[in-house]
Amino acid sequence: MRRMLVRFVYGSRYDRVPHGQRAYVRPGERLIREAQWRLRLRRTRVCSLIEYSGSVPLAENEEFLACTLCGEERQQPLFEPAGGKGWRYRVVRCPRCGFLYRNPNVRPERLGDLYATSYSSFLTGTYAEQRRRRYELTMRAFSPVFAEGGGRRLLDFGCGAGLFLGLAEGLGFDAVGVDLSPDSVERANAALRTARAYLGDPDDVPEIAAGGFDVITLWSVLAHLPRPLDDFARFRRLLAPGGVLMILTVNANSLLLKAYGSRWSGFTKNHLMFYSSATLPALLRRTGFAGVAFAPHYGDAIEAGTTRLPVKLRRRLAARVRAGDGGNMMRALAFADQESLERWGAEQKAREL
Ligand SMILES: [Zn+2]
Repeated sequence: MRRMLVRFVYGSRYDRVPHGQRAYVRPGERLIREAQWRLRLRRTRVCSLIEYSGSVPLAENEEFLACTLCGEERQQPLFEPAGGKGWRYRVVRCPRCGFLYRNPNVRPERLGDLYATSYSSFLTGTYAEQRRRRYELTMRAFSPVFAEGGGRRLLDFGCGAGLFLGLAEGLGFDAVGVDLSPDSVERANAALRTARAYLGDPDDVPEIAAGGFDVITLWSVLAHLPRPLDDFARFRRLLAPGGVLMILTVNANSLLLKAYGSRWSGFTKNHLMFYSSATLPALLRRTGFAGVAFAPHYGDAIEAGTTRLPVKLRRRLAARVRAGDGGNMMRALAFADQESLERWGAEQKAREL
């Protein structure tokens, strides 16, 4: 029925627009999706944590959570994403602050279960090319922070097979990375020249625990962190005066989430928490950061200029992303202190927390 309606309204005009771009370019669609979203929030029941935990199954590696950002216990169950190899989980919204998170969530000590299969093969090949492009586009969006390393110290948290570390050392950063996967770390160190990757918890690696980093990067890591308050308090400690923390993650305010619900691409098997520019500031404020800036994400093909979308539709897409803060990824720069705000903030249109 819905498909027929779409056909009736738009004809075949947008058939050749890739799926991930259509919702941004079809006339009126943003406003319709936003209205549907508000309706959905009004209509979906809100229940107590006790009621919720009594009605939902709990696996032995899982636990029920209250809102990590504001402590609210009430739950608004919204989505049940599921994937090919039999995984399925539930995503709730905090009715107080709007944070979206998996609930039940994975117990931190059982996180290894999610990464039991070899992860590093996932980070090489064609996928690696796309990743590299994404790094470069994001660095460009946050220029001049990444324009030139100049010997500044950089920590890549969750460095995988070292793709980004390779770029960072090429730019002249004094770069180190840390990751939990032994074969990724081994692969990284085989390829890197001056940068180094370390295995394990940052607190167990003296070179990292000593801190003093000018830049910390979290490439597609934030959504995987089960205890973000602890992690961000640590990142704040590890930053030197004037330091910045760069974050790339899926955007919980994405227009595509509003359009596709449980089938949204950001609901991947190992994602635990979903942030937006409305909820990330709470995490940063609570862990001692001084400011934040966001760079809207228009999609890698658009930003890299490889899209075949006509110019008129490209402009329309960009306007829609900006109007609703609805890009599919969220890119943020967090400023450790006043010094970093003064040094980098103006260029990035930063706001204080
Ligand atoms: Zn909350």
